[in-house]
Amino acid sequence: MSFQHVPVATVADALAALKRHGEGGKVYAGGVALSILMKSRIFRPGVLIDIARVKELSFIEGTPDGGLRIGAATVHRAIETSPLVRERFPLLTEVFHNVATVRIRNQGTIGGNLCFAEPASDPPAALLVLEARMKARRADGTERVIPAGEFWTGYYECALGPDELLTEIAVDPLPPGFRTACTRFTTRSKEDKPCISISAAVAAEPDGRTCRQARIGLGGVEAIFRRLGAVEEGLRGKALTREAIDSVLAGALGDLDPLTDIRASDAYRRQVTPVFIRRTIEKALGRSS
Ligand SMILES: Cc1cc2nc3c(=O)[nH]c(=O)nc-3n(C[C@H](O)[C@H](O)[C@H](O)COP(=O)(O)OP(=O)(O)OC[C@H]3O[C@@H](n4cnc5c(N)ncnc54)[C@H](O)[C@@H]3O)c2cc1C
Repeated sequence: MSFQHVPVATVADALAALKRHGEGGKVYAGGVALSILMKSRIFRPGVLIDIARVKELSFIEGTPDGGLRIGAATVHRAIETSPLVRERFPLLTEVFHNVATVRIRNQGTIGGNLCFAEPASDPPAALLVLEARMKARRADGTERVIPAGEFWTGYYECALGPDELLTEIAVDPLPPGFRTACTRFTTRSKEDKPCISISAAVAAEPDGRTCRQARIGLGGVEAIFRRLGAVEEGLRGKALTREAIDSVLAGALGDLDPLTDIRASDAYRRQVTPVFIRRTIEKALGRSS
């Protein structure tokens, strides 16, 4: 297989290369996903624009309001082990700790994970719950911000155009009172990609027993990651008991459209997804965010 490898050192160089090579150019970050596609000849690259050494895309920074900015080429392991991330968003520490193996976490980047948009991924559900914003730059230098809720558009599809580079992911602190948790369920091995990956943020009323607000992000189950709006609405004002949560889930997941793949059938996913959502909510209630 012959292709051109174009290592770039700056965002400006990456954008210039995207402009120069048009549809023939492909951003290459950690290469975890792309190299597998290339080896299996599913993807035959023309030009690989290698951003792995672009320092300005690899950073984790706190914002004065308690939020975070993460560069798109930051590897999973850097996020997993960052004391700042642990202090501000323990949900992200847990989610990135769960991704694959240390070897893959040292190579794969947050941007590659989000742009690849593989349904069997963990970070998207958490970033939906945190209402992250994805910053992208076009080859012409213009910039746009895409809310997490609009970033994933289809099966292995995201909102970026072929001339766009994801540059950073920003999250604001959750409003006071939210507690967070994630759960992942694998059907083949612990390190496998998730069959189901759920993140939740739940805030209780001062009585500690009634749901004030819940945010539930779903990954692994359907073709596109999404927040479960009907479940979130259903939980509002309800008691946070097992029975009440199960009752809401029984009525609010009618639009679930699970995948059938090597990890599970649609029927299996339909049956177990509510159990894992309830467990994630219970886990969140047992610890502070
Ligand atoms: C064995 C194995 C187990 C795994 N287990 C898990 C798991 O448990 N949970 C999980 O969530 N994931 C898992 N993954 C997936 C892995 O996390 C992702 O494949 C990886 O993060 C992709 O990142 P990358 O930097 O290697 O992307 P690359 O392979 O370099 O790129 C992937 C795609 O993203 C595009 N891209 C990359 N960066 C940018 C950017 N900045 N702007 C625009 N486009 C960009 C590329 O053009 C390409 O289309 C696993 C993968 C393997 C191989």
